[in-house]
Amino acid sequence: MAEVSLTQVEKFYGTVQAVRSVSMDIADGEFVALVGPSGCGKSTLLRMIAGLETITGGDLSIGGQRVNEVPAKGRDIAMVFQNYALYPHMTVAQNMAFSLKIKGLSRADIDARVRQAAAIVGLDDYLTRLPRELSGGQRQRVAMGRAIVRDPAVFLFDEPLSNLDAKLRVQMRSEVKALHQRLATTTIYVTHDQIEAMTMADRIVVMNGGRIEQMGAPLALYDRPESLFVAGFIGSPAMNLLPGAIRDGRFVSDRGLALPVPPSAARDRPGVTYGIRPEDLSLVSHGVAAQVALVEPMGADTQVRLDAGGETLSAVLRDRVADHPGQPVQIGVPTGRVHLFDTESGRRLE
Ligand code: ADP
Ligand code: MG
Repeated sequence: MAEVSLTQVEKFYGTVQAVRSVSMDIADGEFVALVGPSGCGKSTLLRMIAGLETITGGDLSIGGQRVNEVPAKGRDIAMVFQNYALYPHMTVAQNMAFSLKIKGLSRADIDARVRQAAAIVGLDDYLTRLPRELSGGQRQRVAMGRAIVRDPAVFLFDEPLSNLDAKLRVQMRSEVKALHQRLATTTIYVTHDQIEAMTMADRIVVMNGGRIEQMGAPLALYDRPESLFVAGFIGSPAMNLLPGAIRDGRFVSDRGLALPVPPSAARDRPGVTYGIRPEDLSLVSHGVAAQVALVEPMGADTQVRLDAGGETLSAVLRDRVADHPGQPVQIGVPTGRVHLFDTESGRRLE
């Protein structure tokens, strides 16, 4: 087990800067998710931690030791990739045993560790199968088992569930989380899927353009995004974001929709973007006038697209909606749930 600490870590590929001055401290046993759009530098950062990529600038330490120059095999980490990279001609047991054999462990030791890891990932009955005789989820479990047998100080995952279908992804998500709760090994998990990050991690690091946008507990990011980028990235469906200004104690969007703001933010101010999450809107008897544009029943709740004063708002309602397109409604906007951002810098106001 080990803590991982990055101080102003940078990565250049030639003149392309993939990672820009990233600093973070990951505690021993913590589960941290690195999340962000494709190309934002997640894999590069993870590969530098793994020792698969050189570090251009800054310091990386694992377990209190600076390891910038330590090769991958000296770092006591295990990595699980998206394409599990199993050896096709080896059985499940042989795949899991491979790294231990190279390490020179005894036959008995290897057998014991493989059996234990197989039990943890639920593959006890599949030890003699070949990868091609397994489902996608089972193959991903072999890849995890192969990491577990090594009993590393740190687990690194790079989008391990991306190749699985939606249902299996949700199931494996719970399995990885349960695995972490059981082993309590420091884990850094890369994903572009914010829901995966929200549901699994102790802490989320949101990356954008090689930089950290915000780092915090999942619900802290959800409740108080520090930038427009994080506001739009965390939460599904995405937060409604409307550019406009604060005038005469209200927000007025560029297209003319007036919305309430908290009293503390009522001072006139140009260049403000207004944010409200779909799930914070409701239908009320006296509120903001709107028309129903589209109703999507999801079973547990209903997603509704609303036209309000020239703007489109999405709402997620707990109640079933009998309304049809064109129907006039009133929307309740709780000012305590409103997020305000400076449009130009993208920073949160207050
Ligand atoms: P992510 O994993 O978040 O999708 P990556 O870390 O793979 O992003 O890539 C970050 C940036 O670095 C991208 O602009 C990508 O094109 C660039 N990049 C990644 N690997 C290489 C490489 N080996 N050579 C040159 N550029 C690279
Ligand atoms: Mg990647």
